[in-house]
Amino acid sequence: MVHSALIEKLRAAVGEDYVHTAHEAMRAYDHDALMIYKGLPGAVVLPESAEEICRVMEICHEERVPVIARGAGTCLSGGPTPAPGGVLLVTTRMNRILEVDYENLLARVQPGVINIHLSEMTRPRGFHYAPDPSSEMACTIGGNAAENAGGAHCLKYGMTTNHILGMTVVLSSGEVVRLGSDGEEAPGFDLRGIFIGSEGTFALTTELTVRLTPNPEGVRTMLTTFAEVGDACRTVSDVIAAG
Ligand SMILES: Cc1cc2nc3c(=O)[nH]c(=O)nc-3n(C[C@H](O)[C@H](O)[C@H](O)COP(=O)(O)OP(=O)(O)OC[C@H]3O[C@@H](n4cnc5c(N)ncnc54)[C@H](O)[C@@H]3O)c2cc1C
Repeated sequence: MVHSALIEKLRAAVGEDYVHTAHEAMRAYDHDALMIYKGLPGAVVLPESAEEICRVMEICHEERVPVIARGAGTCLSGGPTPAPGGVLLVTTRMNRILEVDYENLLARVQPGVINIHLSEMTRPRGFHYAPDPSSEMACTIGGNAAENAGGAHCLKYGMTTNHILGMTVVLSSGEVVRLGSDGEEAPGFDLRGIFIGSEGTFALTTELTVRLTPNPEGVRTMLTTFAEVGDACRTVSDVIAAG
Protein backbone atom coordinates (compact mmCIF):
# COMPACT_ATOMS: atom_id res chain seq x y z
CA MET A 1 0.00 0.00 0.00
CA VAL A 2 0.98 3.66 -0.25
CA HIS A 3 3.89 4.71 2.00
CA SER A 4 5.91 7.91 2.35
CA ALA A 5 8.71 6.91 -0.06
CA LEU A 6 6.12 6.02 -2.70
CA ILE A 7 4.37 9.36 -2.20
CA GLU A 8 7.68 11.14 -2.81
CA LYS A 9 8.10 9.20 -6.09
CA LEU A 10 4.55 10.12 -7.14
CA ARG A 11 5.21 13.79 -6.34
CA ALA A 12 8.38 13.68 -8.42
CA ALA A 13 6.35 12.19 -11.29
CA VAL A 14 3.38 14.59 -11.40
CA GLY A 15 4.34 17.56 -9.23
CA GLU A 16 3.95 18.34 -5.53
CA ASP A 17 0.52 19.98 -5.91
CA TYR A 18 -1.06 17.06 -7.72
CA VAL A 19 -0.71 14.31 -5.13
CA HIS A 20 -3.30 14.54 -2.36
CA THR A 21 -2.89 12.56 0.83
CA ALA A 22 -4.83 14.67 3.35
CA HIS A 23 -7.91 12.85 4.63
CA GLU A 24 -10.27 15.78 3.91
CA ALA A 25 -8.99 16.17 0.33
CA MET A 26 -9.36 12.46 -0.41
CA ARG A 27 -12.90 12.22 0.99
CA ALA A 28 -14.15 14.06 -2.11
CA TYR A 29 -12.95 11.13 -4.20
CA ASP A 30 -14.00 8.18 -2.04
CA HIS A 31 -17.17 7.34 -4.02
CA ASP A 32 -18.85 7.83 -7.39
CA ALA A 33 -22.33 9.27 -8.09
CA LEU A 34 -23.93 6.06 -6.80
CA MET A 35 -22.58 6.89 -3.31
CA ILE A 36 -23.14 3.35 -2.02
CA TYR A 37 -19.62 1.94 -2.41
CA LYS A 38 -16.79 3.83 -0.69
CA GLY A 39 -13.06 3.41 -0.29
CA LEU A 40 -10.43 5.79 1.05
CA PRO A 41 -7.32 5.73 -1.18
CA GLY A 42 -3.77 6.10 0.11
CA ALA A 43 -3.18 8.90 -2.41
CA VAL A 44 -5.08 10.77 -5.11
CA VAL A 45 -2.87 11.56 -8.11
CA LEU A 46 -3.77 14.00 -10.90
CA PRO A 47 -1.41 13.61 -13.87
CA GLU A 48 -1.39 16.07 -16.77
CA SER A 49 0.04 13.95 -19.58
CA ALA A 50 0.31 10.42 -20.94
CA GLU A 51 3.98 10.40 -19.90
CA GLU A 52 3.02 11.18 -16.31
CA ILE A 53 0.41 8.39 -16.33
CA CYS A 54 3.08 5.95 -17.58
CA ARG A 55 5.43 6.98 -14.80
CA VAL A 56 2.70 6.60 -12.13
CA MET A 57 1.83 3.15 -13.46
CA GLU A 58 5.50 2.09 -13.45
CA ILE A 59 5.97 3.29 -9.87
CA CYS A 60 2.83 1.53 -8.64
CA HIS A 61 3.70 -1.64 -10.57
CA GLU A 62 7.14 -1.79 -8.92
CA GLU A 63 5.54 -1.36 -5.49
CA ARG A 64 2.56 -3.66 -6.23
CA VAL A 65 0.13 -0.87 -5.33
CA PRO A 66 -3.33 -1.02 -6.97
CA VAL A 67 -4.37 1.88 -9.23
CA ILE A 68 -7.98 2.82 -9.95
CA ALA A 69 -8.82 5.37 -12.66
CA ARG A 70 -11.38 8.12 -12.22
CA GLY A 71 -12.74 10.67 -14.67
CA ALA A 72 -15.54 12.90 -13.41
CA GLY A 73 -16.92 10.31 -10.97
CA THR A 74 -20.47 10.40 -12.43
CA CYS A 75 -20.50 6.61 -12.74
CA LEU A 76 -23.43 4.72 -11.21
CA SER A 77 -21.81 1.29 -11.00
CA GLY A 78 -19.05 1.89 -8.43
CA GLY A 79 -16.33 1.72 -11.13
CA PRO A 80 -14.07 4.51 -9.82
CA THR A 81 -14.39 3.48 -6.16
CA PRO A 82 -10.81 3.65 -4.81
CA ALA A 83 -9.02 0.51 -3.66
CA PRO A 84 -8.55 1.23 0.07
CA GLY A 85 -4.97 2.37 0.61
CA GLY A 86 -4.18 2.29 -3.12
CA VAL A 87 -3.72 5.06 -5.68
CA LEU A 88 -6.67 6.83 -7.30
CA LEU A 89 -5.56 8.32 -10.63
CA VAL A 90 -7.84 11.19 -11.67
CA THR A 91 -7.82 12.38 -15.31
CA THR A 92 -9.56 15.75 -14.94
CA ARG A 93 -6.36 17.68 -15.75
CA MET A 94 -6.03 15.74 -19.02
CA ASN A 95 -8.78 17.78 -20.65
CA ARG A 96 -7.24 18.90 -23.94
CA ILE A 97 -8.83 18.47 -27.36
CA LEU A 98 -5.67 17.65 -29.31
CA GLU A 99 -6.97 17.75 -32.89
CA VAL A 100 -10.24 18.19 -34.77
CA ASP A 101 -10.21 16.77 -38.30
CA TYR A 102 -13.40 17.94 -40.05
CA GLU A 103 -12.45 16.31 -43.36
CA ASN A 104 -12.36 12.86 -41.80
CA LEU A 105 -15.00 13.61 -39.12
CA LEU A 106 -12.86 12.72 -36.15
CA ALA A 107 -11.19 14.28 -33.14
CA ARG A 108 -8.23 13.27 -30.98
CA VAL A 109 -8.80 13.97 -27.29
CA GLN A 110 -7.27 13.37 -23.91
CA PRO A 111 -9.38 11.13 -21.62
CA GLY A 112 -10.46 13.92 -19.26
CA VAL A 113 -12.24 15.94 -21.97
CA ILE A 114 -15.86 16.53 -20.94
CA ASN A 115 -18.29 15.39 -23.64
CA ILE A 116 -20.07 18.70 -24.05
CA HIS A 117 -16.81 20.61 -24.48
CA LEU A 118 -16.08 18.68 -27.69
CA SER A 119 -19.64 19.28 -28.94
CA GLU A 120 -19.45 22.98 -28.08
CA MET A 121 -16.22 23.30 -30.05
CA THR A 122 -17.49 21.48 -33.16
CA ARG A 123 -21.20 22.46 -33.22
CA PRO A 124 -20.65 25.80 -35.01
CA ARG A 125 -18.99 23.82 -37.85
CA GLY A 126 -22.05 21.49 -38.07
CA PHE A 127 -20.86 18.55 -35.95
CA HIS A 128 -21.07 17.22 -32.41
CA TYR A 129 -19.94 14.30 -30.27
CA ALA A 130 -23.08 12.16 -30.10
CA PRO A 131 -22.70 10.01 -26.92
CA ASP A 132 -24.44 11.59 -23.95
CA PRO A 133 -25.10 9.35 -20.94
CA SER A 134 -27.41 12.09 -19.56
CA SER A 135 -24.33 13.56 -17.87
CA GLU A 136 -22.55 15.17 -20.84
CA MET A 137 -22.12 18.41 -18.89
CA ALA A 138 -19.76 16.64 -16.49
CA CYS A 139 -18.66 13.17 -17.60
CA THR A 140 -15.39 12.49 -19.43
CA ILE A 141 -14.84 10.71 -22.72
CA GLY A 142 -12.33 8.38 -21.00
CA GLY A 143 -15.00 7.44 -18.44
CA ASN A 144 -17.55 6.90 -21.23
CA ALA A 145 -15.15 4.53 -22.99
CA ALA A 146 -14.49 2.52 -19.82
CA GLU A 147 -18.25 2.15 -19.23
CA ASN A 148 -19.27 1.85 -22.90
CA ALA A 149 -21.80 4.46 -21.82
CA GLY A 150 -25.24 4.59 -23.37
CA GLY A 151 -28.03 7.04 -22.62
CA ALA A 152 -31.08 8.34 -24.45
CA HIS A 153 -29.16 9.36 -27.59
CA CYS A 154 -27.90 5.81 -28.20
CA LEU A 155 -31.33 4.87 -29.56
CA LYS A 156 -30.43 6.96 -32.61
CA TYR A 157 -26.63 7.04 -32.56
CA GLY A 158 -25.51 3.81 -30.84
CA MET A 159 -23.36 3.21 -27.77
CA THR A 160 -19.98 4.79 -27.02
CA THR A 161 -18.18 1.91 -28.75
CA ASN A 162 -19.72 3.05 -32.05
CA HIS A 163 -18.01 6.43 -31.66
CA ILE A 164 -14.47 5.47 -30.67
CA LEU A 165 -12.14 4.57 -33.52
CA GLY A 166 -8.86 4.26 -31.68
CA MET A 167 -7.32 4.64 -28.27
CA THR A 168 -3.91 4.72 -26.63
CA VAL A 169 -3.72 2.86 -23.34
CA VAL A 170 -1.11 2.25 -20.65
CA LEU A 171 -0.98 -1.25 -19.19
CA SER A 172 -0.33 -1.80 -15.48
CA SER A 173 3.39 -2.28 -16.25
CA GLY A 174 3.60 1.17 -17.85
CA GLU A 175 3.72 -0.27 -21.39
CA VAL A 176 1.94 1.89 -24.00
CA VAL A 177 -0.36 0.18 -26.53
CA ARG A 178 -2.31 1.64 -29.46
CA LEU A 179 -5.70 0.01 -30.16
CA GLY A 180 -7.92 0.49 -33.22
CA SER A 181 -6.97 3.18 -35.73
CA ASP A 182 -7.87 6.62 -37.02
CA GLY A 183 -9.88 5.02 -39.83
CA GLU A 184 -13.08 3.01 -40.05
CA GLU A 185 -11.53 -0.47 -40.04
CA ALA A 186 -8.34 -1.54 -38.26
CA PRO A 187 -6.78 -4.84 -39.36
CA GLY A 188 -6.65 -7.76 -36.92
CA PHE A 189 -8.64 -8.46 -33.78
CA ASP A 190 -10.86 -5.68 -32.42
CA LEU A 191 -8.93 -5.23 -29.16
CA ARG A 192 -10.33 -1.69 -28.97
CA GLY A 193 -13.78 -3.27 -28.60
CA ILE A 194 -12.58 -5.47 -25.73
CA PHE A 195 -11.13 -2.55 -23.79
CA ILE A 196 -14.27 -0.42 -24.24
CA GLY A 197 -16.59 -1.30 -21.37
CA SER A 198 -13.87 -2.94 -19.28
CA GLU A 199 -14.33 -0.33 -16.50
CA GLY A 200 -10.64 0.50 -16.40
CA THR A 201 -9.68 -3.02 -15.32
CA PHE A 202 -7.40 -3.71 -18.34
CA ALA A 203 -5.54 -0.43 -18.74
CA LEU A 204 -5.65 3.33 -18.42
CA THR A 205 -6.69 5.26 -21.51
CA THR A 206 -4.45 8.23 -22.27
CA GLU A 207 -5.84 9.34 -25.64
CA LEU A 208 -8.88 8.60 -27.81
CA THR A 209 -9.75 9.13 -31.47
CA VAL A 210 -13.50 9.70 -31.64
CA ARG A 211 -16.06 10.08 -34.40
CA LEU A 212 -17.82 13.41 -35.03
CA THR A 213 -21.51 13.29 -36.00
CA PRO A 214 -23.34 15.83 -38.21
CA ASN A 215 -25.78 17.98 -36.24
CA PRO A 216 -29.48 17.14 -36.72
CA GLU A 217 -31.25 19.43 -39.19
CA GLY A 218 -33.79 20.36 -36.54
CA VAL A 219 -34.88 19.46 -33.02
CA ARG A 220 -38.53 19.55 -31.90
CA THR A 221 -39.93 18.47 -28.53
CA MET A 222 -43.44 16.97 -28.68
CA LEU A 223 -45.88 15.75 -26.04
CA THR A 224 -48.38 13.14 -27.25
CA THR A 225 -50.90 11.07 -25.31
CA PHE A 226 -51.91 7.50 -26.18
CA ALA A 227 -54.82 5.40 -24.93
CA GLU A 228 -52.75 2.19 -24.96
CA VAL A 229 -49.05 1.57 -24.19
CA GLY A 230 -48.89 -0.59 -27.33
CA ASP A 231 -49.95 2.37 -29.48
CA ALA A 232 -47.12 4.46 -28.03
CA CYS A 233 -44.57 1.70 -28.71
CA ARG A 234 -45.75 1.25 -32.30
CA THR A 235 -45.53 5.00 -32.88
CA VAL A 236 -41.92 5.04 -31.68
CA SER A 237 -41.14 2.14 -34.04
CA ASP A 238 -42.84 3.96 -36.92
CA VAL A 239 -40.85 7.13 -36.24
CA ILE A 240 -37.58 5.15 -36.25
CA ALA A 241 -38.59 3.24 -39.39
CA ALA A 242 -39.33 6.56 -41.11
CA GLY A 243 -35.68 7.51 -40.56
C1 LIG B 1 -27.79 11.73 -13.77
C2 LIG B 1 -26.96 10.64 -14.41
C3 LIG B 1 -27.50 9.91 -15.45
C4 LIG B 1 -26.74 8.91 -16.06
N1 LIG B 1 -27.28 8.21 -17.11
C5 LIG B 1 -26.53 7.27 -17.74
C6 LIG B 1 -27.06 6.58 -18.89
O1 LIG B 1 -28.18 6.81 -19.32
N2 LIG B 1 -26.27 5.65 -19.48
C7 LIG B 1 -25.01 5.36 -19.02
O2 LIG B 1 -24.33 4.51 -19.61
N3 LIG B 1 -24.50 6.00 -17.94
C8 LIG B 1 -25.21 6.94 -17.29
N4 LIG B 1 -24.69 7.60 -16.21
C9 LIG B 1 -23.38 7.18 -15.67
C10 LIG B 1 -22.13 7.99 -16.09
O3 LIG B 1 -22.41 9.33 -16.35
C11 LIG B 1 -21.41 7.38 -17.30
O4 LIG B 1 -21.08 6.02 -17.06
C12 LIG B 1 -20.12 8.12 -17.66
O5 LIG B 1 -19.59 7.53 -18.83
C13 LIG B 1 -19.04 8.09 -16.58
O6 LIG B 1 -18.01 9.01 -16.95
P1 LIG B 1 -17.04 9.65 -15.84
O7 LIG B 1 -16.05 10.52 -16.50
O8 LIG B 1 -17.85 10.28 -14.77
O9 LIG B 1 -16.30 8.34 -15.31
P2 LIG B 1 -16.05 7.87 -13.81
O10 LIG B 1 -17.33 7.77 -13.08
O11 LIG B 1 -15.00 8.70 -13.18
O12 LIG B 1 -15.45 6.42 -14.07
C14 LIG B 1 -16.21 5.44 -14.72
C15 LIG B 1 -15.35 4.21 -15.00
O13 LIG B 1 -14.37 4.56 -15.95
C16 LIG B 1 -13.05 4.23 -15.47
N5 LIG B 1 -12.17 5.24 -16.07
C17 LIG B 1 -12.29 6.59 -16.02
N6 LIG B 1 -11.32 7.17 -16.74
C18 LIG B 1 -10.56 6.17 -17.25
C19 LIG B 1 -9.40 6.12 -18.08
N7 LIG B 1 -8.80 7.23 -18.53
N8 LIG B 1 -8.90 4.91 -18.41
C20 LIG B 1 -9.47 3.77 -17.96
N9 LIG B 1 -10.56 3.75 -17.18
C21 LIG B 1 -11.11 4.93 -16.84
C22 LIG B 1 -13.18 4.26 -13.97
O14 LIG B 1 -12.20 3.44 -13.35
C23 LIG B 1 -14.59 3.70 -13.78
O15 LIG B 1 -14.57 2.30 -13.82
C24 LIG B 1 -25.42 8.62 -15.58
C25 LIG B 1 -24.90 9.37 -14.52
C26 LIG B 1 -25.66 10.37 -13.94
C27 LIG B 1 -25.04 11.14 -12.81
